[in-house]
Amino acid sequence: MNWHLISKHIEQATGNAFKIISAQALSGGDINAAYHLKSADQSYFIKLNSSDLITMFEAEFVGLQEIAYTDTIAVPHPIVYGKTDHQAFLVLEYIEFSRASKVSDKLLGQQLALLHQKCQGYYGWSRNNTIGITLQINTPQQNWQSFWRDNRLVFQLNLAVKNGYDGRLQTLGEQLCNDMAALFAGHAVQASLLHGDLWAGNAAVDKQGQPVIFDPACYYGDREADIAMTELFGGFSDDFYASYQQVWPLDEGYKTRKNLYNLYHILNHLNMFGGGYLKQAENIMAQLIAEIR
Ligand code: ADP
Repeated sequence: MNWHLISKHIEQATGNAFKIISAQALSGGDINAAYHLKSADQSYFIKLNSSDLITMFEAEFVGLQEIAYTDTIAVPHPIVYGKTDHQAFLVLEYIEFSRASKVSDKLLGQQLALLHQKCQGYYGWSRNNTIGITLQINTPQQNWQSFWRDNRLVFQLNLAVKNGYDGRLQTLGEQLCNDMAALFAGHAVQASLLHGDLWAGNAAVDKQGQPVIFDPACYYGDREADIAMTELFGGFSDDFYASYQQVWPLDEGYKTRKNLYNLYHILNHLNMFGGGYLKQAENIMAQLIAEIR
C-alpha cells in the first residue's frame, strides 16, 4: 500500500497536512479492500482495488457528490480518488456508526423521499457506473420503460447468455420485455435521483443519530426501484416505509412492479454468482407474465 502517495493526495484535496499514525484494515466490503486511515486529528475511509477499476471509484465519488448536493440525506463526504502505481483508491470521510433507532428509521424514510423528489429531465445519468462488479449503463433516455428494458433487463439477459444461461430464462425474458408496458398502467414515472443499490448493508446511522447512505450506484429513474431493493434482502423497518409514504406515497401497482425492478438485481446476482438465482429469476419472470395476462 502506497500510503505516502495517498496521504499526499489527501493533503492536496483538503489543503491540510496529513501525517498517518495508523492504517487499520476493515472487513465488510463485498468488492474492495477497506481501511481506516488516521492522523492525530483526521480520519478517512479508504477503498482500494486494482488500478483498472479507477472509473468505478470515479463514479462512486461523483455519485456521492451528487447526493450530497441535494442536501436531503447524509453520505460520507468524498475527498479524492486516484491511482498509485498498482492500485486505484477512493478516500471518503470516515463515519463512526451507531445503532439504528425508531427515530433514525423514520428519518431515513423521510430523507430518502426528499432525495427522490430531486428530479431530472431524463432517465439515466451523466456516466455509467457499476452494480456490484457489473457494468451499469446509464445512457440518458426520455422513455423510462425502454430505459429499464434496454439498459437494465436486456443488458443483464445478454450477459446471462454469455455466461451460459440460455433456454427458458431467455424465452421468459423476451416475453416479459415485450409485454411489460401493461405493468405501468396509471403510473407516471418521475426521473428521481436514486441511490441505486439500496440494500441494508449500504445504509447506517452516525453517532449523531443521522441516517447515512453509502456505496451508491446512482442514476435518475423510478423511485420504486430504490424502494423495491430495500425489500429484496430485507432489513428496513415498518417505520422507514411509513415515513417514506407520508412524504411521498407510492403509486398503486408498486407491489407488482417491485418484482420487475428486483428482477434486475436477481439477474445481476445470477451473472455474478450463478446457482440458485437462475430459478429465482425464472420464477419472478413467469409470475410477472402471468399477472400481465
Ligand atoms: P464495497 O464497495 O466494497 O461493498 P462498502 O462501501 O459497502 O464497500 O463499505 C464496506 C463497509 O465499510 C460497509 O459495510 C460499512 O460498514 C463500512 N463503511 C463504508 N463507508 C464507510 C465510511 N465512510 N466510514 C466508515 N465506515 C464505512
